Amino acid sequence: MSRRTPGWIVAVCLALGVAQAAETQVLTIVIHGGAGVIAREQLGPDGGAAYREGLNAALDAGYSVLEAGGSSLDAVTAAVRLLEDNPLFNAGRGAVLNHEGEAELDASIMDGRDLRAGAIAGVKHVRNPIDLARRVMEHSPHVLLHGAGAEEFALQQGYTLVPNDYFRTPARKAQLERILRGQTQPKNELVALGTVGAVAVDQRGNVAAATSTGGMADKRWSRIGDSPIIGAGTYADNASCAVSATGHGEFFMRKVVAYDICALMQYKGWSLERAAREVVQKKLKEFGGEGGVIAVDAKGNAVMEFNSPGMFRGVRDSRGRRETAIYDK
Ligand code: ASP
Repeated sequence: MSRRTPGWIVAVCLALGVAQAAETQVLTIVIHGGAGVIAREQLGPDGGAAYREGLNAALDAGYSVLEAGGSSLDAVTAAVRLLEDNPLFNAGRGAVLNHEGEAELDASIMDGRDLRAGAIAGVKHVRNPIDLARRVMEHSPHVLLHGAGAEEFALQQGYTLVPNDYFRTPARKAQLERILRGQTQPKNELVALGTVGAVAVDQRGNVAAATSTGGMADKRWSRIGDSPIIGAGTYADNASCAVSATGHGEFFMRKVVAYDICALMQYKGWSLERAAREVVQKKLKEFGGEGGVIAVDAKGNAVMEFNSPGMFRGVRDSRGRRETAIYDK
């Protein structure tokens, strides 16, 4: 505009531009509550209503952050926090138990705007592991802290630690006892894999991803899975996408699943959908890895791709899409 253009015209043009940018940016949040074999009879006659309720509450908590103009980082934190507090899922309270009967928790978070990331592994006394992962990202010079050191950091940050018993539900104790006795799961009792995660894109087009888990039941020797490993279970980059994974971690780590999806988009120019399908249905499956991912790109496109019989999942966006699902259809 010329120097003689009146100020009010400039202001109106700017406002219109901002409004249009805000209007065209699709807000999206996608969550998962774990993938695996989920027998229909295990969900009971109500078809898993309590699980869907938990997923819907987490979706709404995350989406309301986005709707209020909040960041994708805050949205994924809010969603994962609720799922950690829900004893039905394998994260926070209700996490699976290790061989010694303790909950041992892993979590990670990543900001697609600047590739900052934070993660914790093997913590036993932190109520909301995703909060501590975020603290690592925002208040430490490191990316991944584990075990006693991570808890010392938590104390320094003013956290109150909780007894391990806070996490251990009767269902998880019974599950471990059955595994130790060499028995399989009874048909009418659902103790799903249940790792949780969320990915989102906000009004500024920034993407973020978060994942939290108790890992695998009966795990031994301080085993750490893919969930706290940046690039394997979690990744976010505005230039491609944000991903949170769930499934057999040993396979996801070796296939660097979350990063591989982002890399295919960036290097080959593929769509999010194509990249996620290639990795989950081909590369991971042929390798013997079972599970799935949720992912979102900066335009608000969402993907929920899995090669297992089921994956607890949900999506909500500003185009009016709102759904939760457990099986393929
Ligand atoms: N990926 C998690 C792990 O291997 C487990 C899961 O997603 O269910 O620790």
